[in-house]
Amino acid sequence: MSHVVVDNPHGLDQQLAALDLNPDGQGGGTGRRYIPPHLRNKDAAKNGFGGYENKDGGWGGAPRDAAYNSFGGRNDRSKSAFFNDRGSGSRGRYERGGFGGGGNSRWVEDSRGEDDWSKPTAPNERLENELFSGSNTGINFEKYDDIPVEATGTSCPPHIESFHDVDMGEIIMGNITLTRYTRPTPVQKHAIPIIKIKRDLMACAQTGSGKTAAFLLPVLSQIYTEGPGDALQASKNSGQENGRYGRRKQYPISLVLAPTRELALQIYDEARKFAYRSHVRPCVVYGGADIGQQIRDLERGCHLLVATPGRLVDMMERGKIGLDHCNYLVLDEADRMLDMGFEPQIRRIVEQDTMPPKGIRQTMMFSATFPKEIQILARDFLEDYIFLAVGRVGSTSENITQKVVWVEENDKRSFLLDLLNATGKDSLTLVFVETKKGADALEDFLYREGYACTSIHGDRSQRDREEALHQFRSGRCPILVATAVAARGLDISNVKHVINFDLPSDIEEYVHRIGRTGRVGNLGLATSFFNDKNSNITKDLLDILVEAKQEVPSWLESLAYEHQHKSTNRGRSKSRFSGGFGARDYRQASGGSGGFNSNRPGRNAGGHGGNRGFGGGGGFGGNFYSDGYGGNYNHSGSVDWWGN
Ligand code: AMP
Repeated sequence: MSHVVVDNPHGLDQQLAALDLNPDGQGGGTGRRYIPPHLRNKDAAKNGFGGYENKDGGWGGAPRDAAYNSFGGRNDRSKSAFFNDRGSGSRGRYERGGFGGGGNSRWVEDSRGEDDWSKPTAPNERLENELFSGSNTGINFEKYDDIPVEATGTSCPPHIESFHDVDMGEIIMGNITLTRYTRPTPVQKHAIPIIKIKRDLMACAQTGSGKTAAFLLPVLSQIYTEGPGDALQASKNSGQENGRYGRRKQYPISLVLAPTRELALQIYDEARKFAYRSHVRPCVVYGGADIGQQIRDLERGCHLLVATPGRLVDMMERGKIGLDHCNYLVLDEADRMLDMGFEPQIRRIVEQDTMPPKGIRQTMMFSATFPKEIQILARDFLEDYIFLAVGRVGSTSENITQKVVWVEENDKRSFLLDLLNATGKDSLTLVFVETKKGADALEDFLYREGYACTSIHGDRSQRDREEALHQFRSGRCPILVATAVAARGLDISNVKHVINFDLPSDIEEYVHRIGRTGRVGNLGLATSFFNDKNSNITKDLLDILVEAKQEVPSWLESLAYEHQHKSTNRGRSKSRFSGGFGARDYRQASGGSGGFNSNRPGRNAGGHGGNRGFGGGGGFGGNFYSDGYGGNYNHSGSVDWWGN
């Protein structure tokens, strides 16, 4: 349910741009310089990409389309073809085939599969407008650059400072310009060169750090360089075996596993951007949605598959997907996938089917934390990997101003109204509450008070959740009331204010929540209502505020002092935040690559039982979330990820 008060339909100029009927005639007849549709009618200053990268004269202050003749302010003539090429007959070929979500449907009927995959295909204005019209504004890179990154492992390549420091080819560079990513985020600076030289990677980085592009850019760049290999032929053969065109089994070249449909959709959306003007067709499959439609979409061709584990196993068992040619495997938010109980499915997919083994395929794992279970997966799935520890966006970054205010239960609603009025009606505000009932009640209350708001929690249908997210992201309902589980992992990039109407009982959850704001260098505000009910989080909260150089209310300090004297069991929180990193490389901590004993669980055992297989040799010093973490997001019993 969404309560829309402010109606804000698409602007006419946007619709005209999408139809390529812009009245100024820039819609581009042949012979005119090509201007991406979403940038038409914008003044030169806006085309300066937020004022960055002026030094080579490419951007700010330059003519409207100058940015598209150079890449990131560089004078690279060879690449300008990406934007100037309007292609012949591109219209007809690029019409999307009417399937949900869309992608480059042309691949199915197109014999160009054998073409040089490193060359961009013809542009498609409508698709380009759809993919790239969202903007990345207000990015505070200077602040974000401060986030520390540690890379450990043998022969680690140097990190890059600019996307141009590594050769990712014409298609990727063109699409980076279209996305308006002016410079790599810290995780991208380190991960891109590591993946480019075909090393396995274990990265402790959170959603919001730019990790999706960190793996998509180099993986897609390699696919473009190397072409489809045997995957294309395998799919054709399977089509012939089945005797009917279109009933092909698909053999994706790259697989990205993600825990939730929302995250899978976000990765898919990002993949579509970087697959624009390429032969690669991304697809997404996830549970809780019509499988027939997903199968039909797969049958149109699938080179990069984003999937939740359960639905992928289903597709494999139906003979729709073969992993025989999957040369790139990404496990995103691996810790959450384990918390959600997906380990058997993940092992089924990676170890018990036809996927090339580690060492042959390239494997990349991303996880906010590095508890034992993740270390075991890393050991089993990765070969001589490089470990990247990316500083926590939430705990060390000064991008987020954290306020803790004392508010009694009865005063919370009126305090909230004051805050909302102070923040301004149009700023995206995410309000966290503890229960589904609480979410409904607060949404109704805000609606009655005249606020455009919506909510997301476990009792909402998938459709309602997606609708609510859309309303929120688009600004039609700039207030989203959410329970924690429902909001986890969501990338809503321009949230200005996170309000902990109800504080969580766990500090990890607090860090995740405030990480919804201040993302990728944007400035954000997080306000938490604290009262007697929250005393269990006092000490951890104080530590976080101090670590992030935030103002600490004196009452919180006194409370924490009282608590410390009452409690004898308070050592844990210190060890959980290792200098702002989610985790560090246990191989460093244990002084070598040992740390595991030989008592490994069997490969196909479908789980680890009680024997974790770790030596007791102290491989997990105080640097790890070696205790407690698993329980925090563990939805064992009857409660699932969505709180159902
Ligand atoms: P992620 O951590 O992958 O969920 O990314 C968070 C957000 O950052 C997404 O909205 C991305 O589109 C955006 N993003 C990723 N890389 C960059 C970059 N280099 N510059 C600007 N925005 C970025």
